[in-house]
Amino acid sequence: MASFHSTITGKCPNCEKGDIFERNGNIFLLRVPKMHEKCTECGYRFEKEPGYFLGAMYVSYGLTILEMFVVFFATFWFVPLWLFFTLIFTTLVVFSLFNFRWARIIWINLFPY
Ligand SMILES: [Zn+2]
Repeated sequence: MASFHSTITGKCPNCEKGDIFERNGNIFLLRVPKMHEKCTECGYRFEKEPGYFLGAMYVSYGLTILEMFVVFFATFWFVPLWLFFTLIFTTLVVFSLFNFRWARIIWINLFPY
């Protein structure tokens, strides 16, 4: 596993200087996050093989479950059921690009080589 620092800052697991993502996504502007193909500092290739990021879906799933638990414990007993499901769905949509980006950053740093 690469360093905790490169995971938190979203930097290359090899040199910890180059950014993994070229731009952050914004769900409100319908703009998806864009990754660099290689590290701008050391040339480290982020997608080592086709399908490398399939494993990031498991990380994304875990992040989504965590967010759902937070929404569940914060709202389930206090709001009507229709509002609860609306909040769950809204959370899913709003955090989708956040999860996409962080799932890949965590995956790259878990299995850098
Ligand atoms: Zn690098």
